Amino acid sequence: MSAHFDLSKDEMKSYGYKIVDLIAEHWATIEEQKPVVKATREEMDSVFLQEAPEKGMSADKVLDFVVENVIPNSSVTAHPKAFSFVPGPSNFISTMADSLATGFNIFSGGWMVSPAAAELEIVTMNWLLKMYDFPVAKGGGIFTSGGSMANLTAIVTARRLKCGDDFSKAVIYLSDQAHSSNIKAIRVLGFKKEQIRILPTDIEFRISMNKLKNAIAKDRLEGLEPFCFIASAGTTNTGTVDPLEDIADICEAEGLWMHVDGAYGGAAILSEKGARALRGIERADSLTVDPHKWFFQPYEIGCLLVKDSSWLSNTFSEKPEYLRDIEGNESEINFYDYGIQLTRRLRALKFYMSIKTYGLETFKKAITYNIQIAEDVERMLRKSRNWEIISPANLAIINFRYNPLHLDLTEPQIDEVNQKISEKIMENADAFLVTTLLNKQVVLRMCLINPKTTFKDVEDTFLRCNLYAEEILNLK
Ligand SMILES: *Cc1c(COP(=O)(O)O)cnc(C)c1O
Repeated sequence: MSAHFDLSKDEMKSYGYKIVDLIAEHWATIEEQKPVVKATREEMDSVFLQEAPEKGMSADKVLDFVVENVIPNSSVTAHPKAFSFVPGPSNFISTMADSLATGFNIFSGGWMVSPAAAELEIVTMNWLLKMYDFPVAKGGGIFTSGGSMANLTAIVTARRLKCGDDFSKAVIYLSDQAHSSNIKAIRVLGFKKEQIRILPTDIEFRISMNKLKNAIAKDRLEGLEPFCFIASAGTTNTGTVDPLEDIADICEAEGLWMHVDGAYGGAAILSEKGARALRGIERADSLTVDPHKWFFQPYEIGCLLVKDSSWLSNTFSEKPEYLRDIEGNESEINFYDYGIQLTRRLRALKFYMSIKTYGLETFKKAITYNIQIAEDVERMLRKSRNWEIISPANLAIINFRYNPLHLDLTEPQIDEVNQKISEKIMENADAFLVTTLLNKQVVLRMCLINPKTTFKDVEDTFLRCNLYAEEILNLK
């Protein structure tokens, strides 16, 4: 073997076609696959654990091994019965776009290296700015690896703009339903525990405005400096949207940065109901959306939008000598100046190609369908004697539990039976359906953002749930 990595053109083609065939086969048969897989560390070690080999082997053999062992040991988050966490329905065009971006290894840090890559990010960012009614000329944004990185990028920008270098008295606010990535980001940024206010939500899982106002006022009395509120536009647990208009009013009056974490629910802006639920989102200073969730993109692509692009460049520009020649014209954006990464893959390509190919219309229809099907599930469960809704259909998420009318189960019994229903469903790979905790109750949660999910998929899943519940309670 020589000291290079090249294959002949024919070898590359036959190897590449094999992979394309595998991916196409996968997409064409998703419904027939199992949504859930489970394996222990011991089982995986017994398959994979070995030293890095000194000598290579046939590429086909390595590929065969991967196809036999990696793929079947990964859950299919695009499966129509994958209801847990946030499913990854993805789409085929974007899948191929990612292959193109990687195949040509297009560097998306600076304009000078890849002007088209930067232009695509500018253009797609403009589409997003317009969607959320952010100013297109003045506003800006950047694609990140995901929502976590977008939130981190937002909070560091907020801190830079609001607090400058001294943030020892700064206080940041968020609700107890805000996503954990925000707390992670706050910790990464070196805030102390005393600088973080996690505020309780009301019975519908929205931030309590009263609690927020109290907290800000009391912190000012203590000589602290409230600087940022993180609102949720679609919590991951329940799809609940915080009262964005009220929050915007308070943030304006108090001089707080308003960050909206729309990583889960932001895409709902493309449906009528979603747009109504998200009213006020246009008043945010910064907004996280997460195209690898409800914009149907493959992992990894998140996005941060801001009202004024100079906020990002003022936070992230550094000018090392070796980047001197790249600087150039200001309209020619170097995205390494807008965020944390210097070397970046071309994330914009999949977003661009999928929207160009399918049109916004297809995205709108899919998202409208997702919201509708969750409401249909709610209606079905309301009419059932066995099921109780804990949080109604909100932006395609619904939480419920098995609690039959005539049985008078105690709270611990209800928790137990619901936990066990999930375990049985997962064990038998009927569906990917896990529990969450709401008001300390164990509940089952469905996130229905897959356009392939039919009402029958849901009905079948409930049929299994009812069966298992009866087994667990020895009703048969
Ligand atoms: C998923 C999620 C995140 C984190 O996004 P990643 O893409 O997983 O990093 C942040 N906020 C909310 C509301 C989310 O649902």
